[in-house]
Amino acid sequence: MEMTLQQLTPNLWLNSSELFTYHSGIFVSEHRAVVIDPGLKQNEIDALARFVRQQNWQVDAVILTHGDWDHILGASAFPNARVVAQREYVAKTKRSAEYIQRVIEKTPDLGITVPFTPPRADETFAERMTLQVGALTLELFHTPGHAPDHLFIQERANGILWSADMLSNEEIPYVIDHLGTIAKTLNAVSLEDVRWLVACHGEPTNDLTEIRARLENDRAYIAELQTRVARSVSDGKSLDETQELCADISYRQSVPDNRGAHHRNVASAYVELGGQVSEPVGWRRAQLEIMPY
Ligand SMILES: [Zn+2]
Repeated sequence: MEMTLQQLTPNLWLNSSELFTYHSGIFVSEHRAVVIDPGLKQNEIDALARFVRQQNWQVDAVILTHGDWDHILGASAFPNARVVAQREYVAKTKRSAEYIQRVIEKTPDLGITVPFTPPRADETFAERMTLQVGALTLELFHTPGHAPDHLFIQERANGILWSADMLSNEEIPYVIDHLGTIAKTLNAVSLEDVRWLVACHGEPTNDLTEIRARLENDRAYIAELQTRVARSVSDGKSLDETQELCADISYRQSVPDNRGAHHRNVASAYVELGGQVSEPVGWRRAQLEIMPY
């Protein structure tokens, strides 16, 4: 499985999964390393840990970009590393422990042993923190909206921005936690000094036009979603009518799954903006149905 490892830049390696176009990361400098979201299948996690051992790198920390199930599976493969996450990670993983457990049970392909307990965070932060890896400085900052504990990692000297579950070329923004919050987060993102954009799902890119296009398109998508759903709710439309009114909101990511994600975004936004429903809808319903999004 070593084939899945690739060196993206002198200080950043990716371990790519067979599933969900998913990447874990390793920042390395002077034989010190920090691992990001180790995953996804057990054999891929093992390959990542074995590779790090073979290189004689000391893993000081595992950063979990947020507590969604697919980002937290492999931390225990690095028992000497401290686990770093945003503060909301603790409450989020506590709330969703049962859901995470059931997704893993329903996905035997992962090869993850059950019962699975979300890793404990050894160190958390509220808005920002920095973390030293050899000669590199990693800046972690809170970017909520997709998840309440979502974070970005920036390594400015080499122009790297690790955007986790945002700014993907494959997935539209999954507005699972809060639409108003993700809009604020996207509006605050700065691409200054960014020469490499790496999302956990999709293709890493160092094409500056592509990087800007991802941000602009996701901002426009979220703004349009807010505008149309808010208008629909204030006009007293039903959720079905709102879905129709939002069906042609455009986005540039072209994977067919995005249709389902867009549908869930509309339903969750409808509830967030005051629309009345008689049963759980959108992302809430997907969670209750144990959908492994
Ligand atoms: Zn996620």
